[in-house]
Amino acid sequence: MGVVERLGGGRSRLGYDEPMMKRALVATVSIALLLAGVAAAQRAPSDYRESDAVLAHYPALPEVALQSPAFAAATASLTSQDDLIAFVSKLAAGSRHVRLASLGRSQQGRELPMLYVTQEGLDDPAAIARLGRPVIWLIGQQHGNEPAGGEAMLAVASALSSGELAPLLDRISVVIVPRGNPDGAAADRRVLASGADPNRDHLLLSQPEIRALHQAMRVLPPDVVFDHHEFSVAWRWIEKFNALQAADVMILEATHPGVPRSLTDIARRLYRPALDAAMAHHKLTSHDYVTTAANMDDRTVSLGGNAPGIARNTFGLRGSVSYLIETRGVGIGLQSYQRRVATHYLLAKALLEASASDSGLSAAIAAARQEAAADRSPLVVSHKVARRPFEMPLIDPDTGAPKPTPVTLADSRTLTSIERRERPLGYLVVRGGAAVAEHLALNDVTSCEVAEANKLAVETYDVQRVAAQTGAGRESINPDQSVRVTVRPSAVDVPRGALFVTMAQPAAGIAAAALEPDSPGSYLGVGVIPMSDGESQAPVYRVMADPPACLRP
Ligand SMILES: [Zn+2]
Repeated sequence: MGVVERLGGGRSRLGYDEPMMKRALVATVSIALLLAGVAAAQRAPSDYRESDAVLAHYPALPEVALQSPAFAAATASLTSQDDLIAFVSKLAAGSRHVRLASLGRSQQGRELPMLYVTQEGLDDPAAIARLGRPVIWLIGQQHGNEPAGGEAMLAVASALSSGELAPLLDRISVVIVPRGNPDGAAADRRVLASGADPNRDHLLLSQPEIRALHQAMRVLPPDVVFDHHEFSVAWRWIEKFNALQAADVMILEATHPGVPRSLTDIARRLYRPALDAAMAHHKLTSHDYVTTAANMDDRTVSLGGNAPGIARNTFGLRGSVSYLIETRGVGIGLQSYQRRVATHYLLAKALLEASASDSGLSAAIAAARQEAAADRSPLVVSHKVARRPFEMPLIDPDTGAPKPTPVTLADSRTLTSIERRERPLGYLVVRGGAAVAEHLALNDVTSCEVAEANKLAVETYDVQRVAAQTGAGRESINPDQSVRVTVRPSAVDVPRGALFVTMAQPAAGIAAAALEPDSPGSYLGVGVIPMSDGESQAPVYRVMADPPACLRP
């Protein structure tokens, strides 16, 4: 039995009929909910002390040598921002391959370093793109209290500079963002200084750190992105199940149904077997990434969600092969730290080796993007997520013995579509066009201005505002589905200069997620496209035939 969801909503859309709410109120509610989710996300316990019996199951991996600041001394430590900057600066200064660049600065003024790693030691993104090698982006520590992924990025950079990974550079180019959230890292907090969750902002692009990342990706688009995180070991798991998470690592590819199928095929065909083999070789345990809601009565365990604004999904929608990597680490301080960092390192290494070994990778990804641009299949607007019994591999907190626990799994990869909508040729935006164009451009979506005022046959949206839903967990999407629509054919006056966004482009999935008003976090829902109280027709139209001529392409 499934539940009806909007894409990625993860919650029932039934039973929330409310009178039309003022735009400002909706925005306020959305922000309040966002902050409520943030508060829940921050309510992490002080470090949980694992029993010796449990720790014995997670020993260091001495066969993996990690050249990074945390392991420079006999006892591992967290790497400070100063130590991180010093490490990457020294690495770049002493390397033929590594060049230090910057995404900019965080909200509290900390540097956001970025490393370009190429055979030629290039620091010009356009020149790196012209090499024609697959461009692999590695992102660490978007969440500040998940340090192992960030530390591993430093070890990967070192190994690419002069270590075991350097020979791969004649076949791939690598971009490394070792610490996406330095303010959160300094405060040992998940969130950005603003309180917003960076991992939910990749469609909305409201946070400077996330805007800077996508600006850099626009200049040097990723073919593959690995996003390195950690997950809670005890917390809800011990409160709900009196057990600890067992797996060393959980992984998941982009699952939003708008992600080009061929990209998902590459993820499963090329990368998943390589990752699985690396883990098996080092006797690391793994399964698909799952989480569980804050509600203690809810024993459902969910695969990572389908919201388009989750980094993993946004990267997929913009045309990259995308994976989330999560190690067993939040809330346990530095326990098993070498093993956690080594696990990230080994998976990044497997990714880079698999990328370098596939001489057809660039062509396959290019073909997948062309397919996406030519796709005419219907858009899945809402769907049911399959629910099935699942045995969650947990462990006893005292003995470390396996404690497989029956739960219900909400499987975001197994969908039944509830509502399909014919795919338009493109969208017309007649209000807020400049902001929409700017947002979309950061996610690699092109748009143009209509050349002549015209009366056009389109489909319009009648909009109904509904209350934002309560009880949003941290896995929920950013601003909730506060919009429902009815689509109908109409003839409208389109002014000169209105924005036209064609769907005949590789990142069409981003365009649809942003512009279908009832998609979670849509630009109408979050106010990028303003709509005043009392209006019922959205200032966004679906072009089903005869796209308008543009002033410039
Ligand atoms: Zn995370």
